[in-house]
Amino acid sequence: MTKTKKGRVFSGARPTGRQHLGNYLGAIKNYVALQEDFECVYCIVDIHALTTVETTEDLRLNTYEMALDWLAAGIRPEESIIFIQSNVPEVAELHTYFSMVTPLGKLTDLPTFKEKVRQQPQNVNYGLVGYPVLMAADIALYKADAVPVGVDQAPHIEFTRETVRSFNYRYRTNVLIEPQMKATEIPKVIGLDGQQKMSKSLNNHIELAATPEETTQRVMQMVTDPQRVRRSDPGNPDICNVYAMHRVFSALEEVEMVNAECRRAGIGCVQCKQMFARNLNQHLEPFRARRAEIGRDPENVWEILRDGQRRASAIARQTMHEVRQAMGLPIL
Ligand code: SF4
Repeated sequence: MTKTKKGRVFSGARPTGRQHLGNYLGAIKNYVALQEDFECVYCIVDIHALTTVETTEDLRLNTYEMALDWLAAGIRPEESIIFIQSNVPEVAELHTYFSMVTPLGKLTDLPTFKEKVRQQPQNVNYGLVGYPVLMAADIALYKADAVPVGVDQAPHIEFTRETVRSFNYRYRTNVLIEPQMKATEIPKVIGLDGQQKMSKSLNNHIELAATPEETTQRVMQMVTDPQRVRRSDPGNPDICNVYAMHRVFSALEEVEMVNAECRRAGIGCVQCKQMFARNLNQHLEPFRARRAEIGRDPENVWEILRDGQRRASAIARQTMHEVRQAMGLPIL
């Protein structure tokens, strides 16, 4: 018997290619878990990516690699909808309608916009200003009841709720749903440098699909407690990223052992990293096996995305029909 779901969740991520541990712990793991209780719509937001990418030549490959990682991690396409944002163009239409109920000043005042202007002053395109509007359109188009986000993302959801409210108020309708924020504890995964958030662009990441040897090599590069210079110095696990990772991927006894032994210099960092690398590789083994199996037939991955497109399109067409009617557009 099919379990009754509690509602629909929507989430999107830019096509960044092979996913890393930060993506896994910060989003994918949660995507997989949400499938138990919700109807899930997961979108690869390639249109959003266009606001910042310099070239689109890797877009197709990055989309494929990301979808493959999602599937290998446990996203079930027979239940969840996985699709590519640009494949359902209704989102661009809703974005346009939303732009008419969004004050420009509100967009240019957003800290995220100001940050982008600072990061790429040579390319302050309209898409950057309209980014939150497109995001609101993504969510509203699929009538998501909830959006899983970390607390730092709360303003985006609030923006979406306000946009939906403005639209519904402007056209005296209730066709669009104000989504709830599904606050999720998203751990900040620190990269190999021990300081910055794990990210591909900083090259401080560990790819899920890396071989065991590559993974071990990356783990051995991890920065540990900076105060611990010699093997005989006691360390402080509380400020060590390797220990933070042990807590996620190692068994409790081992975590406790590292915690105690590190503090009295009973274990060296090399040994500690080797242990973590072994545990991480063990953890990733089933993922890698599934990835290899699914990846044997790339056409099947594209077909899953096509099927997702069909299912997402059906929802989007219906929503847009209601939206146009509510707006009083002359539908012929
Ligand atoms: Fe970090 Fe482990 Fe070294 Fe302690 S022994 S500083 S926890 S790597």
